[in-house]
Amino acid sequence: MTVCRPLCPYAEFNMKLLYNAYIRTQDPSHPTETAILIDRERIVAVGEANVLLSQYPNAEKQNMNGRVILPGLTDAHLHLKHYALNLQKVDCETETKEACLRRVAERVQKAKPGEWVLGHGWNQNVWENWPSASELDAIAPNNPVYLTAKSLHASWANTAALKLANITSQTRNPQNGQIQRDGKGSATGILLESAMDLVGNIIPEPGIHEIADAMEKAQSILWKMGLTGIHDFDRRDSFMALQQLHAQGRLKLRVLKNLPVELLDQAYELGLSAGFGDDWLRIGYIKAFMDGALGPHTAAMFQPYIGEENNRGILNMDSEELFEHGRKAAQVGLALAVHAIGDRANHEVLDAYEQLRHYEQENHLPALRHRIEHVQVLHPDDVMRLGRLNIIASMQPIHATSDMFMADAFWGERSRLAYAWKTQLENGASLALGSDAPVESPNPFWGLYAAVTRRRADGSPSADGWYPEQKLSMAEAWQGFTLGPAYAANMETRLGRLAPDYLADLIVLDASQDPFTCPVEDLLVMQSSATMVGGEWVYTSATGDGGLS
Ligand SMILES: [Zn+2]
Repeated sequence: MTVCRPLCPYAEFNMKLLYNAYIRTQDPSHPTETAILIDRERIVAVGEANVLLSQYPNAEKQNMNGRVILPGLTDAHLHLKHYALNLQKVDCETETKEACLRRVAERVQKAKPGEWVLGHGWNQNVWENWPSASELDAIAPNNPVYLTAKSLHASWANTAALKLANITSQTRNPQNGQIQRDGKGSATGILLESAMDLVGNIIPEPGIHEIADAMEKAQSILWKMGLTGIHDFDRRDSFMALQQLHAQGRLKLRVLKNLPVELLDQAYELGLSAGFGDDWLRIGYIKAFMDGALGPHTAAMFQPYIGEENNRGILNMDSEELFEHGRKAAQVGLALAVHAIGDRANHEVLDAYEQLRHYEQENHLPALRHRIEHVQVLHPDDVMRLGRLNIIASMQPIHATSDMFMADAFWGERSRLAYAWKTQLENGASLALGSDAPVESPNPFWGLYAAVTRRRADGSPSADGWYPEQKLSMAEAWQGFTLGPAYAANMETRLGRLAPDYLADLIVLDASQDPFTCPVEDLLVMQSSATMVGGEWVYTSATGDGGLS
């Protein structure tokens, strides 16, 4: 067998030539083309169909029948293990508490006595009050029930679960957490922030095999949504399951794996650097949490929440402490990705990053691509600092439209600089967009819709959208889901555009579904009709005119 690449006549038989397509390359020198030539996992050429067809007569040809080809999308903030396992949980994202209780009751019927019943997705702001343990006890007297909130910053447990966790009226609040109590001091069943762990930690963990299987199922859902890569923010089990999938050749999604700051010492001792791994699975960032979230009012703010004059949220650490983490991480070439929602939290992170930039310079270390996760609301004085310090704004467009009424209610005027991605772009920050799934659906087309309309699917709050000056153009938003995450992963030379030597990660959309020209509402129902990762068709829709012939 002759092994040669890329232009010898034998190799040509292994090449794929997709022609008669409308290709949006994101390569500024050739923004659109009609054919793409792929050799194994890489793109060899992008050009005019006539030219490539005559140059490569022996390549395997696929007529795309005028369909649109675009670079595959990457979700820059996703919890793959949680998302995958959540697909198996009771969906608690209901309009009313009663509807949620009905779903839980159905699952309880099928569960064995004593078996845990898990659910996710409720939001007390939608239900207009906090639920309680007794409501679950009525439908689940013999099964422990544990339902996490959509924000992942609160949970709702029944009495059986509280008992197993030994939570009584005597139990003290853990640091950075709260056991919600009634007038008599008894636990209501609601656990906030770190108090969630009191129950969360006693739930039997699924094994690595189970997680890997769940991830594999999730992966096919992600391909259909148009995703070819993710930046994963889950932990050890997630990493082990991903390695297992990879070793077995079942991982067909580009994964940037981030590590929790609690493991920084171990990473440092090991000398583990960003980029270790390969183009499928590689080490990314050190992830730290600066504060909580808007939903449970735990995001750290300079000024109190509206209607709660003593509540400014919870700050987990100050800028000094974060800087110390950053300094250590920099020794082994790991950048920071720090969760910051409130304006105070973002301010502290920016102070730490400013110090870190000086430190990098003084010590002749590379300027790492640090990022802030969420950047949900900024103090006016901090708006320009991400751009100035060259910090990546890792934002989730769909959070804006999900949270806008809460933001107006609890942050008021401050919301002018909330979810303000256009302001960030204009001030020189680069954007890496994502979903924070399972907090939101990972469907990137819903994210794109939110980014360019600032509206919900139902059209609220208005035709113009919420703070419409923050709308992105489709080109900016698409870039935020492709080149932006590629840059954050130090992979912008091989991911995020369709050009020679780039990895062949792409999606195919129907000819009438070009997101750049179709009615914006079409984004809400858009799906990939075929997805290629590393030169392999990993997903093709069963429908259509004979598929990809
Ligand atoms: Zn997250």
